[in-house]
Amino acid sequence: MKKPQAPGLSDSTLSALWRKVVLHVGRNTCVICGGGGYLECHHIIKRRYKLLLWNWRNGVPVHKGDCHATADRLGMSAAGPAWYSYLLEMAKWTKKEYLMKNDWSESEWRAGVKNDLSAELGGGA
Ligand SMILES: [Zn+2]
Repeated sequence: MKKPQAPGLSDSTLSALWRKVVLHVGRNTCVICGGGGYLECHHIIKRRYKLLLWNWRNGVPVHKGDCHATADRLGMSAAGPAWYSYLLEMAKWTKKEYLMKNDWSESEWRAGVKNDLSAELGGGA
């Protein structure tokens, strides 16, 4: 069985932090219609693809309903142009392969994911 994760590295903690960073980087603006208000976070590369599950470059803010459905239909085109190539490159790896390549444990990977997210919230704006 899986070992419990260290405090601060649980699925729910990383999911909440991911959402916060996606909204922050996306300036609380829906990528489909440009509006604000309550926004969901859309995974450009599907959630089942674990390597990018909590990568903020793989998320964009959208309104619930039509905007989210439109983002789903757009697929990779919903990604910001800055991250399109990055996401395609990362998508070549399974999470297992990527961790092996870097010689990371699950906890080390999660800590890295958290640092990457936290770094985005650190700088002003
Ligand atoms: Zn919208």
